Amino acid sequence: MARRYLSKKQARGLAEQQVGRLFELAEIEARSGKDERARRYVSLALRVSERYRAPARHKRTYCPSCHAFFVPPRNVRVRTGKRRLSLTCLRCGHIQRLPIGDDREGQADD
Ligand SMILES: [Zn+2]
Repeated sequence: MARRYLSKKQARGLAEQQVGRLFELAEIEARSGKDERARRYVSLALRVSERYRAPARHKRTYCPSCHAFFVPPRNVRVRTGKRRLSLTCLRCGHIQRLPIGDDREGQADD
């Protein structure tokens, strides 16, 4: 092994931390009205997470199309439907639909 002093696993762990921190920063900026800055942090976070395949646990907090960090109700419209959540980005109009509920296996027949 060459000079790389981080294992892939370690690098991924660090990347995850970094992604988490970038999302925190994005939230702070977005909440103080600095949307463009927040978008920059989101873009950065996504770049890091893509590169290291760090899991994206923040799917509901930003627009996948323009990377705006969502601060409801200021820049996102949230609607709930049948087991679905739809998030409409008020910046670019992108609509994201997400299933509600954690129990994927429990999609029962009741
Ligand atoms: Zn958008």
